[in-house]
Amino acid sequence: MSSSSAVRSCTVCSKGNANLCSRCKSASYCSKSCQQSDWCTHKLLCASFTTFATSDRPTPEHYRGILFNPEKSKPEFIWLLSKWSSSYGDNDYDVDYQSPQIRPLLGSDSLLKHLTIQHDKRLDKQLSDTIFITYRDTFLVDGSRPSRSIASITATQPGEYHDWRGPIVAYGKKGLGIDPLACRDLDMNDFRHITDHFLSYAYVPPPDTSQASTERVKGVRINCVGDVKLFKKPHFEEVEVAGTDSIFSMHDTSDIADRIELPILTRRCPPDPKWVNTKGGVFGYESPFNNQDATFLHQCCDPRAEFDINTGSLGWGWCPMKWQNGAGSVIVVRKDKKLLLPMHMEALARYCRYEIRPLLAHSTGEFHPEKPMKREEVLRMICRPTFVIYWAKFAGEKKDYATPSPYENGL
Ligand SMILES: [Zn+2]
Ligand SMILES: [Zn+2]
Repeated sequence: MSSSSAVRSCTVCSKGNANLCSRCKSASYCSKSCQQSDWCTHKLLCASFTTFATSDRPTPEHYRGILFNPEKSKPEFIWLLSKWSSSYGDNDYDVDYQSPQIRPLLGSDSLLKHLTIQHDKRLDKQLSDTIFITYRDTFLVDGSRPSRSIASITATQPGEYHDWRGPIVAYGKKGLGIDPLACRDLDMNDFRHITDHFLSYAYVPPPDTSQASTERVKGVRINCVGDVKLFKKPHFEEVEVAGTDSIFSMHDTSDIADRIELPILTRRCPPDPKWVNTKGGVFGYESPFNNQDATFLHQCCDPRAEFDINTGSLGWGWCPMKWQNGAGSVIVVRKDKKLLLPMHMEALARYCRYEIRPLLAHSTGEFHPEKPMKREEVLRMICRPTFVIYWAKFAGEKKDYATPSPYENGL
């Protein structure tokens, strides 16, 4: 046993005294059983690692990443050029950061999505550095091909997995936090965490049809710019979903709606290929994914919330990452499955955006002429009575005094 094995911890269970994999010398294992449990995915890249020694680095600005080519039967290591550049940070000072050149691998005009891994769910292990996974956000509708290399990973465990398509690139950055700056090489330990990510990525279960339920729930679809401008849909559209719809098992919620005693469930709709593939034209400079009402509906009003990259929370006053720009169209239903009318939804969206938003302005660095309000003061303003007052004002503006308020309808 080598002298350094005492400090080397097992890739799988984190125990000390682990020995290196004899071939790649990158992953390490405390026991035969840990090595065997890792082998089914480890073997996909173990041999490839030996040809990517740091001494083979093409230039000092190249870092080892992993490419998941949709057409290849296995993932592969690649060298990614990651030059330093500087940009304005949040506080208007220059920040130097490295970003790998992954555009050529992913398509020059695709909208990209970046996932971060800082925790391994399957091993329940906090990582000490960040792994980024980047892919085309529209891969389900833009003609991208199903990924054979991701399938080589998900085929190792029984279960149903997300339909990953198109090229996917993984790269590493040093440290944790919201925006780590410096790149680093990925190794076989990172590969384990990446495979765990794909093996635990939220899979949407098919609706439960065992009771053959015929229950229908009336909700509202908040259409994004693409659906409104290209298909002339109303911004707030009446929709009906089955009582067994997946929105009841997989959804987000709204802190504001919870606080005003009108809990809702929200769910992003997949983008429509027609507007994804329309460039310029009717949209001008606006993104077809844009849906500000859906964004502001999700402003965080949990006073204990902190930045957490694993959940995408940016803390008090901010909209979580996935609800920032480009949320697309969104379905909203009431948690109690009662009737939610487009007028209810519009009033709630406007209340969030024009009544509550200004109260949170200071927290998100926007200008507001008043002194900052304490969180308790803001929370006292977000309550059923202030929404009831807003509803009366809103109904007056609409000259609609017949529609019952969302608290009154018994349906
Ligand atoms: Zn172990
Ligand atoms: Zn190995």
